[in-house]
Amino acid sequence: KFNELTMAPPDPILGVSEAFRADTHEMKLNLGVGAYRTEDLQPYVLDVVKKAENLMLERGENKEYLPIEGLAAFNKATAELLFGAESVVLQQQRVATVQGLSGTGSLRLAAVLIERYFPGAKVLISAPTWGNHKNIFNDAGVPWSEYRYYDPKTVGLDFDGMISDIKAAPAGSFVLLHGCAHNPTGIDPTPEQWEVIADVIQEKNHIPFFDVAYQGFASGSLDEDASSVRLFADRGMELLVAQSYSKNLGLYSERIGAINVVCSSSEVAQRVKSQLKRIARPMYSNPPIHGARIVANVVGSPDLFNEWKEEMAVMAGRIKSVRKKLYDSITEKEKTSKDWSFILKQIGMFSFTGLNKAQSENMTSKWHVYMTKDGRISLAGLSAAKCDYLADAIIDSYHY
Ligand code: PMP
Repeated sequence: KFNELTMAPPDPILGVSEAFRADTHEMKLNLGVGAYRTEDLQPYVLDVVKKAENLMLERGENKEYLPIEGLAAFNKATAELLFGAESVVLQQQRVATVQGLSGTGSLRLAAVLIERYFPGAKVLISAPTWGNHKNIFNDAGVPWSEYRYYDPKTVGLDFDGMISDIKAAPAGSFVLLHGCAHNPTGIDPTPEQWEVIADVIQEKNHIPFFDVAYQGFASGSLDEDASSVRLFADRGMELLVAQSYSKNLGLYSERIGAINVVCSSSEVAQRVKSQLKRIARPMYSNPPIHGARIVANVVGSPDLFNEWKEEMAVMAGRIKSVRKKLYDSITEKEKTSKDWSFILKQIGMFSFTGLNKAQSENMTSKWHVYMTKDGRISLAGLSAAKCDYLADAIIDSYHY
């Protein structure tokens, strides 16, 4: 019976935090999971979140079940945040929005929709991508293959490789794109490159599938970070967009996000929504209310909304400042001609250091710097005070 089961391997990202907790070294750094920390390296609950929770208490809100599709005020707010309140797709009611269990759960709903209604269709994912994407599609029974994205020579985007792989895929494939702040590389296409990506996807009759886990966190502006998605929506294309509020509102454990399906008409959107509900019902019945109310309260109050933007700009700003400090420190210490400017060019929470597996392991075993073995570090877990130490660790490991 159960004794037939073998031990599962630790999760490559969340397993790093477990190892970190067991380490007692004073300089230890957890740069594995993408979770924002203050300069004191403590978790941060946004003031607007506390205010939104107070509002909930004052109003004496209940804990009744939500409908399968989630909280109506949340679904409206989340779609408006993504597409813009004045967008044509929302005015024409062409978007099916269903609250999901954060980004992961929303991606999973979409994956099941693909498996069920587009049998055999492939999802193209970037090489590399966030580790959980492959798990999600594997478990949902959706075939996937990779398109070239990262160029190790330049530590930049392999744009030609990306375009030719998207072109070479069977027509009608789904193309998974990171809306902003690509995880793990921190490398995003330029606005001009996004246009070309959209051209190719349209030519091939592919369906774009955006994963938006960092809206507002990349540039500090919610609108700017949604510009890739809006460019595709403005072209009248059908598309999927999964959203997460883990990072931008710091609601990691509340599991709040959404799946949005942009359809060709409001009538199609209603049918798609009905099918998404049918997928959700036997999986978890209906979603949790707490995070949904927080988002709805923050977005629904002009004061809280403005305060949120300010807090997000502070978070994004702190990450940018340690990025710069790390770069300065490395270039000051490292006397070879290696070009480290990729650190400054990368966007969002992460930096892809270019360190290989053995070098990444040296970071942990010798320097107590916990990170994923693909060379990714989360700058959101770095303080200004530890930039110098991290620079030493990276240089040492680079020459390892
Ligand atoms: N997509 C990407 C690219 C991510 O980086 C993350 C968070 N690490 C997610 C989705 C989903 O996270 P969550 O389920 O916490 O919203």
